[in-house]
Amino acid sequence: MSQNDWYNYCECPACKAIDDEEESHAGTMVRFVNAIAEAVEKEFPNALIETLAYQYTRKPPKKTRLRHNVIPCLCTIECDFAQPIDVSPYKQNISFRDDIRGWAKQTDLLYVWDYTTDFRNYTMPFPNVYALQGNVKFLHANGVKCLFEQGAYQGRHGDFAELKSWLLAKWMWNPELPMEPLLDDFFSGYYGKAAPFVRRYFEAVHRLQLMYSASADRPLRIFDDVTLPSLPDAVLDMATDCWKQAIDAVKDDPVSSYNVRMGAFAVDYMRLERMRRKSDKVLCLARKSLAAQELVKMQALAKSLLDRMAEAKDIRLSEGANLHEQRKREWQELLARKPRPISATSSGEVEERDISISRKGTWGDYVDDPKAADGKAMKLYNTHFEWCTTFPMHKVEFEPGATYKVRVRVRVDKLRDGGEAFWAGVYDPVAKVGRGGIQPRTENASAEYAWYDVCTWVPNENEYFWIGPGRFGKDGKSSFKALWVDKIDFSRVTK
Ligand SMILES: [Zn+2]
Repeated sequence: MSQNDWYNYCECPACKAIDDEEESHAGTMVRFVNAIAEAVEKEFPNALIETLAYQYTRKPPKKTRLRHNVIPCLCTIECDFAQPIDVSPYKQNISFRDDIRGWAKQTDLLYVWDYTTDFRNYTMPFPNVYALQGNVKFLHANGVKCLFEQGAYQGRHGDFAELKSWLLAKWMWNPELPMEPLLDDFFSGYYGKAAPFVRRYFEAVHRLQLMYSASADRPLRIFDDVTLPSLPDAVLDMATDCWKQAIDAVKDDPVSSYNVRMGAFAVDYMRLERMRRKSDKVLCLARKSLAAQELVKMQALAKSLLDRMAEAKDIRLSEGANLHEQRKREWQELLARKPRPISATSSGEVEERDISISRKGTWGDYVDDPKAADGKAMKLYNTHFEWCTTFPMHKVEFEPGATYKVRVRVRVDKLRDGGEAFWAGVYDPVAKVGRGGIQPRTENASAEYAWYDVCTWVPNENEYFWIGPGRFGKDGKSSFKALWVDKIDFSRVTK
């Protein structure tokens, strides 16, 4: 009897009053579930009612206690998984420790939903094995009676999925079993003569992740991207060598060979996805372009991954069905692609069709606009002020270290002066800082298309350009009817 898997708690005054009093949104949830549990008990005195303590309900209510027939299921979704819950310096792990102690005081039937894979990329290296035993021990010591360790559940051969399942099965019987003998047993049994090479790779990536995540603001999280900063490209080159040696070592042993080739999938997947992203340029401002050689390498990787998917039959790349299908489709398209040289210039434009819109149709859309230079524009509605349109810097080949300026060409259908017409900027989500931006007022915004300088900076590929309709005035309303975006433009700033 749980909340939905969605960050959307009730904001009505009655619920808000309860949540304020309880200092947690679990206040309304627990009162609700207690009422259900009380009613159910009359007919089913032995039944237990489970509810999630998840995201906005993770913190226990201050006043209300759980009924004896309610089990809370606490979820670790926000945590760092490089290190065990009680060891990691990450802020979410610290607050999780408080939350679990709070719930444990209320019940002898604590249930935990723990996560053991990257859900966005099941098949990329996700070095969390050194956290697994510590987590089972910590949860056990804190009164957890029911434990769900969720891995890559939709297919086989996620990153070390077989190893992780096997270890967790062992530790859920006995959290004290030492790790090293278990690893020795699994590696020699599963990889045969390739064991030393796979083990070398395994230890290297885990060591690197631990070093990286020793800092409190560098967690390993379950929706991390293939850009995983703990494993730079040079590490993947080393990893590829380890797996090559491993594959060679078992070429006469069909069972180990299969296990090793499927084990190598994660590194090849990460390499291909990184290469694809780097080659996915819409604009080349550097004296570099996608070489034919690069394409041949990507095609070989794509073919090898698709072949292994066909052989294993049920490899799943991502929890999301769309992402899984999209990757497969894009790899197949890649196989048919011809080398496409792009020549470098010092400046260039990006049309609105290459800029993404969130909630297309609701927050904005791509439309015909005779006033736009190419007759097409993006129209953003005044119903919200989210940063709804973004353009990632990795789609431009910049000269490394050079300073660039980005401008945007927009027009504003104004309703009144004194409001915000739009806001735009460049943001780095990894460093969590804005690199610069503008918030023009409606009285200064043109009804006809005009260029606005947004930011002058040294780009890096984590960043993105963003623009959104202006924030509402004090009356909660927008100061314009619509914002039209024709294109953005990058130019190198010469000294
Ligand atoms: Zn309500």
